[in-house]
Amino acid sequence: MTNRQIIVQDIPKGALSQDHFALQSVDMPRPEKGEVVLRTLLMSIDAANRSWMQGATYREAVEAGDVMATYAISEVVQSQSSRFKPGDIVASESRWAEYVAWPAHKCQKMPPVPRLENLLSVFGIAGKTAFHGLVQVGRPIAGETIVVSAAAGSVGGYVGQIGKAFGCRVVGIAGGSEKCDWVVNHLGFDACVDYRAAGLFKALRDACPAGIDVYFDNVGGAVLETTLAVMNERGRIVCCGAISQYDDAAPTGPRNLPGLVVVKRLRMEGFIVMDFAKEDAKAVRALQSWVEDGKLKVEEDIVHGLENAPLALIGLLAGDNKGKRMVRVGANPKGVA
Ligand code: NDP
Repeated sequence: MTNRQIIVQDIPKGALSQDHFALQSVDMPRPEKGEVVLRTLLMSIDAANRSWMQGATYREAVEAGDVMATYAISEVVQSQSSRFKPGDIVASESRWAEYVAWPAHKCQKMPPVPRLENLLSVFGIAGKTAFHGLVQVGRPIAGETIVVSAAAGSVGGYVGQIGKAFGCRVVGIAGGSEKCDWVVNHLGFDACVDYRAAGLFKALRDACPAGIDVYFDNVGGAVLETTLAVMNERGRIVCCGAISQYDDAAPTGPRNLPGLVVVKRLRMEGFIVMDFAKEDAKAVRALQSWVEDGKLKVEEDIVHGLENAPLALIGLLAGDNKGKRMVRVGANPKGVA
């Protein structure tokens, strides 16, 4: 039996393409003492995957020759650790591979959930990032106006819906009129502005007649620059990510910094979802109750087959996803939904 994996052949200098990856067949991994062998079920496809190729961030960089890094939900198939037995379902950092040997202490046993996919979407990093970033960093108050970019994406879609649950006016920013209609009509935002059309400043000002109190920024660059101009005094900017900069050979930052931050007394604060790990149980309880009450729609965008992971990531960067993108690598074990 062999194992398939995808390596990063070259680190991209500009836009990511399929040529930067190679599919390999290798021997099956064997667990050392303290390790488990994981069979990959679902791999999370994240904008951050691309930023890891740009250099060290909150984790070490992905280098040429590495098996591509990911976050995954997997089944334990062999164990050299007392922590896990075959059949356990775990979440962990992992690799674009059908099987990996991984330190048991870096795996987290997952509770039973209605669908394993939910562990990567609403009850996974996406839902927790939206909850912690909006609640702990943005601190919205009912009646305020929240704007969120990449609004049809996984984090952005939850941010807007959570904002509505808090009683705020919620305005999305997304690419194209079809996505904007979906954000309003399907996800229930109050309005959504197309950043690819001309006149973003005017469109945002029209959609936010009372100005912006909280801007949840997933994209950075030109969209952040324009949004800053519509912020209210003492507004909060939640710096979650900068996807517009990850795939660009010549990234550009907003030109109106720090000027507008000073004049408007803005607070810009970055965060990494793990900063709030102690509050994860609270986040999941809140997310669960909103899902049960129908206030939170769970959108999952599933690509099938390990070999399609490169295209899934390239497509995410180009905006061809709605909701949480993931790759289904292996079938669930019998009895697991
Ligand atoms: P999404 O599901 O949101 O997909 C990314 C979306 O970004 C695309 O669908 C696309 O939608 C939009 N996009 C792509 N390029 C641009 C651009 N140049 N300008 C504006 N929008 C663009 O992905 P993720 O949920 O993985 O990531 C969303 C953000 O959250 C990223 O910045 C990521 O780094 C960040 N993040 C941060 C975490 C943290 O702990 N701080 C944790 C997890 C994610 P469109 O068609 O609208 O362009």
